[in-house]
Amino acid sequence: MADGLREVQGRIGGAIRAVGRSPGEVTLVAVSKTFPARAVCAAVACGQRHFGESYAQEAVPKIAEVEALLAAPEAAMDDNLHGPLVWHFIGPIQSNKTREISAHFDWVHGIDREKIARRLSEQRPDGMPPLNACIQVNISSEASKGGVAPDEVAALAGLVSRLPRLKLRGLMSIPKPGADPRSSFRELKKLRDELNAQGWALDTLSMGMSGDFELAIEEGATIIRVGSAIFGNRNYDK
Ligand SMILES: *Cc1c(COP(=O)(O)O)cnc(C)c1O
Repeated sequence: MADGLREVQGRIGGAIRAVGRSPGEVTLVAVSKTFPARAVCAAVACGQRHFGESYAQEAVPKIAEVEALLAAPEAAMDDNLHGPLVWHFIGPIQSNKTREISAHFDWVHGIDREKIARRLSEQRPDGMPPLNACIQVNISSEASKGGVAPDEVAALAGLVSRLPRLKLRGLMSIPKPGADPRSSFRELKKLRDELNAQGWALDTLSMGMSGDFELAIEEGATIIRVGSAIFGNRNYDK
């Protein structure tokens, strides 16, 4: 894990320098789905703070376990094991999971319909800051994939921005496997820039995974979601 994380950090730095962006512009979300709490803690010990999960059922107990491990007396000795973690829900959002997601996560990346957005806002517990939200866009218009069509984004953004307990941050996409990811990344950025030209202030482009995060950084990603390049291959994927 530590070697994978260091290598990814080095490649991120290289991609940022290559296009003249500054390091603070790109956040690495380490995607820990299918990996245990101790793998998350090992990454925390290397300085990683943002983590991504795709399945509420797996993530909620894992988050509690990570918190318990980090609160243990052994962890108190290690300065690296401090500071708040930031949890990103990056999977498809089922309506029977919105309550758990809104209570345990800081970000959701996969908003793709009004009903889900409303539930997340209504169920966000009092006392927590608004849940950061990205709208998932189906750039390649695949019937099977989550996300709204590019021409539906503005309408959904209007709805999400009026929900009191959500904070609309930007757009997310997962390019079609086998297609050229660069053109999807360009289209997502173009869409975000067009919305901002119409008066929105969307600061986030969540795009890029293990196979293409350098391209995504070149094309303007502000959040990359990287799993297997850090933690190794997943032996199962639900
Ligand atoms: C699993 C997952 C990732 C990470 O994928 P890797 O190829 O392992 O980096 C990123 N984004 C989403 C939405 C995912 O489900």
